[in-house]
Amino acid sequence: MELPEKLRVNLKDEILFGETTGIPTGGRPIQIGLDDLSPRPTQGFECIDGLDLFRANKLMVDVFVPFSIYRGNEPKTSYGVAKNTDFLQKLKICQRISGSTLKYHVHGYHHSASRNNANHEFFECTPSTIKLTLQALKTDIEKVEREGIDFHHGPDKDKLCFRPPGWKINQAAVDLLQEFDYTHLSLLERYKDEGEYDLDFGDLTLHWCNAAPPDVEFPKDKTTPLSVTYHAATWLNNNLDLNNALGLLTEASNSEILLPFSVINL
Ligand SMILES: [Zn+2]
Repeated sequence: MELPEKLRVNLKDEILFGETTGIPTGGRPIQIGLDDLSPRPTQGFECIDGLDLFRANKLMVDVFVPFSIYRGNEPKTSYGVAKNTDFLQKLKICQRISGSTLKYHVHGYHHSASRNNANHEFFECTPSTIKLTLQALKTDIEKVEREGIDFHHGPDKDKLCFRPPGWKINQAAVDLLQEFDYTHLSLLERYKDEGEYDLDFGDLTLHWCNAAPPDVEFPKDKTTPLSVTYHAATWLNNNLDLNNALGLLTEASNSEILLPFSVINL
């Protein structure tokens, strides 16, 4: 898609990364997340038109996948990623055409802790349940990676990022993530500011999301690093349709130089 010139964001050819943060320096860092991409109808590839627009502008997108999402009384195994060949094929094609501008990460297993759609499966559940969930995830990630779809990143394929459903996580889950070799954890800045994360994160590298328009607006200070999240969900205002994607490009065009980064920068 050819964009009007005014919507083309200004990217710097050579991105310089901060030595301790891994975040680019010398311009306005921008990170884009897409949550909940799954085989579940209304939460799949039918509602992410904005991805094409980001790709055309060479912006990176971190895609967070729940491996077996269910809602309400749906069977828990209806939308398993690892067994859905059509969805796996789409993930693979999307990875191939996006190249280094797209990375897949882990966004929970059922994305639910109960039939009433409580999202907090890494917050409300017991340590033993969380351990079983992480074991199920490990098995499915191995299956999906055998299909050529990468969830581990970096030159040694040893970087693995987790974003908890509903952004909520407890200490047992944080400890268990490290036991299961996760290296990065992506959380919500507003919850940090509200004191929700009084936790020992150990060796995990943390990433903070600070916008989810239109529900959580872009930071008022236009020099603040921008970490914005969208959802693959047709019924949400925050879905990744063209309108929301154009909103981000317009926001980004206010920045003189834009430095795209991923939650795992290597
Ligand atoms: Zn989610």
